[in-house]
Amino acid sequence: MAFTLPALPYAPAALEPHIDALTMQIHHDKHHQAYVDNLNKAVAGTPNENKSLEDLVSIAGTLPPAIRNNGGGHWNHSFFWLIIGPNAGGKPSGKLSESIDADFGSFDAFKEKFALAGMGRFGSGWAWLVEQDGKLLISSTPNQDNPLMDIAEVKGTPILGVDVWEHAYYLKYQNRRADYLAAFWNIVNWKEVNKRYEASL
Ligand code: MN
Repeated sequence: MAFTLPALPYAPAALEPHIDALTMQIHHDKHHQAYVDNLNKAVAGTPNENKSLEDLVSIAGTLPPAIRNNGGGHWNHSFFWLIIGPNAGGKPSGKLSESIDADFGSFDAFKEKFALAGMGRFGSGWAWLVEQDGKLLISSTPNQDNPLMDIAEVKGTPILGVDVWEHAYYLKYQNRRADYLAAFWNIVNWKEVNKRYEASL
């Protein structure tokens, strides 16, 4: 069964002024679509054709680069559209808030460490907040890798992630990745992030 592009769950302009509508349109309609199309091409007629996206991602290190890269791209973007959204930002609540304080010292200390992971990723990739055996960790991955992959340095359940490929911010922020990462806090859908954290435990 072929993989398909999930609809963006809000209008492309809904994240203005933090992420501009054109960036969202191109990012979803062109970049994410290309990952889906290229993933379908890469698995067609192979034994990987009938595997789920989660299964492919979990064995990415053993698969051809086209499946690792485009499967990761499809998983990462499907996740990303959900953990950001309109009328968002603010702070996490409940157990996640307590765990962030326990594992990072404070919400502000967590935000700083997460932004550093995004800034420190040379070239293209992602920064992540990962749940691993009950502990929260921050990591970053190159290209379209993610913490669910067998080859990830830090493995676990992604709770929050930010795309630091230039295609995610260049039209509005140009070379200013730090400004994009600062604006990111205004669009984090903590309700979704909380839900994923509690489901991971
Ligand atoms: Mn992207």
